[in-house]
Formats: sequence, C-alpha cells, structure tokens
Amino acid sequence: MKIRWLILFFPLVSVVGLSLLVMEHAAKAAPPQGAAAKAEVPAAAKGAKSAAPAQGAGSLSIPETVLAVNSDKPMSERVVHYEIDAKYDAAKYTVDANEVLTYHNLTGQALDHFPFHLYQNAFQPNATWVREAKIMGSRDTAYNKWEAKENGTEEIKSLEVVGQGDLTKDVQFIQPDDGNRDDKTVVDVHLPKAIAPGEYVQFKIAFQTKFPETEARSGWKRDFVLGGQWFPKVGVWWHGAWNCHQYHAMTEFFADFGVYDVKLTVPQYEVVGASGVEVSSVDNPDKTKTVTYHGDDIHDFAWTASPRFKVKEDGVFQGQMGPVKMRILMQPAHWSQVERHEKILRETLEHFERWYGPYPYKTITLVDPEPDSAAGGMEYPTFITGDTSWFMPEGLHVPELVVEHEFGHQYWYGMVATNEFEDAWMDEGINSYTEVKVLDSILGKNTSILDLAGGTTGERESQRLGYVSVSDLDPIAQKAYDYYNGNSYAGITYGKTASVLLTLEGIVGEDTMQKAMHAYFMKYRFTHPTKEDFLKTVEEVSGRDLRWYFNQAIYGSPVLDYKVLRVESFPVNWYEEKKKGARQKDDKDTVYRSYVWLQRKEDFVMPVEVEVVFKDSNDKLEKVREHWDGASRWTKFMYEKKAKVVSAEIDPDHKVQIDRNNFNNSYTAEPNPKPARKLENYWQFVSQWVGQALAWWGV
Ligand SMILES: [Zn+2]
Repeated sequence: MKIRWLILFFPLVSVVGLSLLVMEHAAKAAPPQGAAAKAEVPAAAKGAKSAAPAQGAGSLSIPETVLAVNSDKPMSERVVHYEIDAKYDAAKYTVDANEVLTYHNLTGQALDHFPFHLYQNAFQPNATWVREAKIMGSRDTAYNKWEAKENGTEEIKSLEVVGQGDLTKDVQFIQPDDGNRDDKTVVDVHLPKAIAPGEYVQFKIAFQTKFPETEARSGWKRDFVLGGQWFPKVGVWWHGAWNCHQYHAMTEFFADFGVYDVKLTVPQYEVVGASGVEVSSVDNPDKTKTVTYHGDDIHDFAWTASPRFKVKEDGVFQGQMGPVKMRILMQPAHWSQVERHEKILRETLEHFERWYGPYPYKTITLVDPEPDSAAGGMEYPTFITGDTSWFMPEGLHVPELVVEHEFGHQYWYGMVATNEFEDAWMDEGINSYTEVKVLDSILGKNTSILDLAGGTTGERESQRLGYVSVSDLDPIAQKAYDYYNGNSYAGITYGKTASVLLTLEGIVGEDTMQKAMHAYFMKYRFTHPTKEDFLKTVEEVSGRDLRWYFNQAIYGSPVLDYKVLRVESFPVNWYEEKKKGARQKDDKDTVYRSYVWLQRKEDFVMPVEVEVVFKDSNDKLEKVREHWDGASRWTKFMYEKKAKVVSAEIDPDHKVQIDRNNFNNSYTAEPNPKPARKLENYWQFVSQWVGQALAWWGV
C-alpha cells in the first residue's frame, strides 16, 4: 500500500502544479472540510435473541433463522452452517477455535470426500500464493522481504465426522491447480461412509490459525487484526464436481450460502466488528470478552479487532426491506472523515437499491483499517474495509471510490456469488462498471475520481486507461490465476470489463442495460451464476443477439483501434479552377469533392459512427453522420459539396469505451494550438498513473 500511495502522490502533485501553471483562475485548494464528528458510542445493548440452537447428531439441519436479514424467511438455499467458537490471542496473533460445520448435501449425488480451504497457509515462502506474487506482481509487496512474521499458518488439530469418528489422519493436502507440493491451502477429507443426496453431515474441527503481518487482505498490523479467510472452509459442489482452488496471488474466493454463528473471545480492551449482527457481548473473568455474531444468507465471515477504533453506529439507512444499521469503525486519526465515509456509504446504498435491487441485510460494517496494513479495500458479506489517509482533501475521492467499490461487492460477489477464482471479471469487472455508474451519478461524470484545484478525472476514463496498456495480453473470460501478470489481471478484469460493459450500454442503450443489470441481480442473487447466465440476461432483456460482441469482447482478446486515416477536399472541376488562378479559389460556387478514409487498425470489428463537418465559404457548418460496419480494413466516404471538410470524428458520442487510442479518432483541418495538445498529452500521462494506481486500489 505504501507503493500505491506513492503512485497516487505523484499525479496529485503533478495535477496541482499543472493546474497552477495553466489555469488562469487557479482554484483554491479545497480545504478539508471541518470534522463533523459526532461521536458517542453506546457499545452494548443489542436486543437480539440468541440464534441457532446447537444441533444434535441425529437430527441435523441448517437453521432457518432470519435474525440478520430483513426478511421473514431464508433468502438463500442454505448449504452450510458454521458454528465457530474462537479465542484470539492478541500477543501471538493466533486464533484457537472449534468449528462445527453442518453441510446439507443438495448436490443430487452421494459425496464421499470433502475438500476444505486453509487459506492462511498461502503465506509461506514456497506456497503458490507467494510463488505467483513474485513472478506476477501483487497489489501488495510485503512478500518481497520475507521475514518470519510474514508466515501464516492454518492447522487442523483434529477433525471428526459425527457418526463416522475421528478422521484427523485422513486429512490430506492436495494441489488441484498446479501440483505444487509445498502448497497447503487445500485439504481433502475422505469419508468412510458417503453422504447420500439430501442428507446432512457434520464436521467437528479443532484448528489453530496464526495470522501473518498483513500481506494481502487479512492478518495483523501492530495491534490491529483483520480476520479474513481464517477458518477451514468447505469447497463448493459446482457443475458436477468439487470446486476448491488453491489460494493464488490473483484470486479471491468462492463459497456456499448458509448461516454463521461465531463466538469471538478477545481481550476486553479490543473494539470488535464482524459480519452479521452482534447477538451478545459478555465479559469473562480473565479480562477477555466473548462477542457473539450471527449471519444469515451469507457465504463468508470476517472480523476485525483493534483497541483504537472509534465507532459511529447511529446511522440507519431505510432500505426497501427494512432498516440497515451502518456501523463505522474508524482510525482515531481519521475520525474527521467519519461523516464523509457514512455519506458515501448511504448514497451508494441508495443507488444500488434504486438501480439493482434491495439490500436485505440488517447491517453493513465499514472498517477503516490500520494504516499501511494491506487490509484496506476488501469485501466480505456485510463487512467491508475502506482506505484513506490523514491527508485527504475533499476533491480527492479515494475514500468514496473505495467505499463504493467494496460496498458494490455486496451485490456482485456477496449476493450474486460468482466464482471469483474462475470468473473474476464477474465480480471485479461488473462491480467496476457499476462503480462508474454510481460514482458518476454521485460525484459527476468528469469529476468522480478527482476534482481538485482545477484538475479533474472521471471514473470512465480511468477505467479505460487501466486497460489500454495491457489490451493485447489476455481475454476477460479466463481463470484469474491464468493471467500473464498482475497488471494484466487488474487492467483486464477491472478496467476492460468496465469499459466493455459501458460500450455494451452504448449498443443496447443505458435504460436497457440498467434493466438487464436489475434482472440479473434479481434472478441470480443467492446463487452462483456463470458467464453465460449474465450474457444471456443482457441478450434477453435487450432482445438482441450480441454474440458478435461477446465473442470478441468477453471471450476473445482482439484489440479495438479505429483511426481517421486521411481527409481530402479539392475542387471537382480542379483543372478549370486551376486555369482561373488563385483569385477564384474561394469562390462560393466552387464545388468540392471530399474524401474521408477510415481505418480499422486492429482486429476488433465494431460498427461505428462518424461525424464529418463541412464548412462553406460563409463559414457555415454542416454536420453529416455516417455509419461504418467496420468489416473491411478501411473504407472511404465521398462527398460533393460547396464546402470543404473541416473535421471528421469516429464515435462522436463517445459510446465506444474500448478504443485503445482515442487520439487518432479525429481529424481536424485546423489543428489545436500546440500548447493545448501538449497539455492534453501531459494530462493523459498523469491520468494513466492515476488509473493504474486506482486499478490496484480495491480488490
Ligand atoms: Zn473489488
């Protein structure tokens, strides 16, 4: 994250300098707005009843609780119920826990083995995560200097299957993706007796997790801890097989929906936040306390603790299904920004409910993690981390960007639970698209990222710039760990997908695209949709066959670059005109023959519009719109008019967001003054830095 800040600071300084130099009315630097911090934190008294009765071995089931959702019945097909009793040792950064997992076999067939993720084992020098991070890069860099504190472990101490006995010895490490024998992020457990379709099975697992100093997403920093990917977690039976990938440097997660009942025992001085709703908090005689959480219809559970969080929890969003409590845990040094965080969270919730569908959970917890912790910009069900700094002028929309992005994942991953290992574009990319829509609506189209001292940057262009430098490396539709490197993963998965969907919006229309997104959310929430489920939804809602586009933009890797190749205007009767001499040159009766040549420079074939502008001898302008299907390598348009061509522009309405080079899209007879062009180039350079920095920002 230190690196990310440096990347951002460079363009920020450049922007300010540039603005002062160029703008006549140099805007005054936006002062950070006064801290509107309220404070007060009644920490206790959640009037919730205890949920989830303990299960007897003979009568297993998954609870139908609705304590944590604004719904009178379960919203998902509940496959798992995790009951975890965990004790956190803040001195050693370890968790010792007992986990009871009840699994409902809804696969339609007998299951005789179960794979589990042990994610924290990724943080070991020869593990696949670190191996890949070294050759592919990562948004974080802590793994570069390997020290013992970078080690994470997740160890199963014992594993029993109720009715089948102790199977601890039958737990085997497997490496389904790369065969790296040193990778211990997945284990497989073979059962003596298969679990019949429709039956339940219960695992009782004792485990210890030792968090690393944060390298990515989870772990500790000083006295802060982010407990993500911290417990043995069963894989997903998907399309006729277990889907349980190793933890890769570029991948996130995939899990089934269910119910979580988690008891966290921590020192009494800790301020704790977690997924779901807090059910109770009880002080123990040994200066610890046990905080109990319950989550319904979620597929993961994360928590955080720090003695220094300042909490704001009086914010309530009145959602379509009921009230949503907004709980914000801030670093004390950032307390002046708490209202800013709540504001963007509330506005984002409003937009998502209005455009895509209801947020059914009773809580959303927003955590401002320890500075420099690599835990910022992360999402878990009903629990997200932001990313800010003590220096954050109002016009630099980094907190807004990160909070919006991570909240967006409540929809695209949290509820529409796609396979993040294999289809990262369906969470990160779709989320980046909605990020553009929502942030543009809240903060303005050209100012959604930066609106400071005369310098502006919009989300839309930032997403495009994130992708142009890696446009010829990878297709969107591929496994996240198969990308060439981290930059390609980030540029394609986030930036290209967002740009491809914005371009799709240009093809089917903004209203239709919004209807399609709403239909997709409502149909596939609480399920695990595939690429085709999404693409077919857009085709169904728009009533159009869009395969020509999807095959290139989603499944293929052709690059799109259209160019105005050449423009000519000369008198039709040029020989006679020549004889009359120069004095007749601007005769208003002179008829000109004009040609405009367009070129498709790369392999992406896309119909485009062109606007050709003519000017007659009275300086009157005429605009002509043309349509080119782009099928051939080049085409030309010919005109005979008493006017010359003064400009030609491809995609004049800026509907195509995936053109790698926008600078060759237009021709102007009277070119811009040089300084302006120079400024434009400089600004492009600066924006590119911002774009790349931000592409890595949120995961
Ligand atoms: Zn993300």
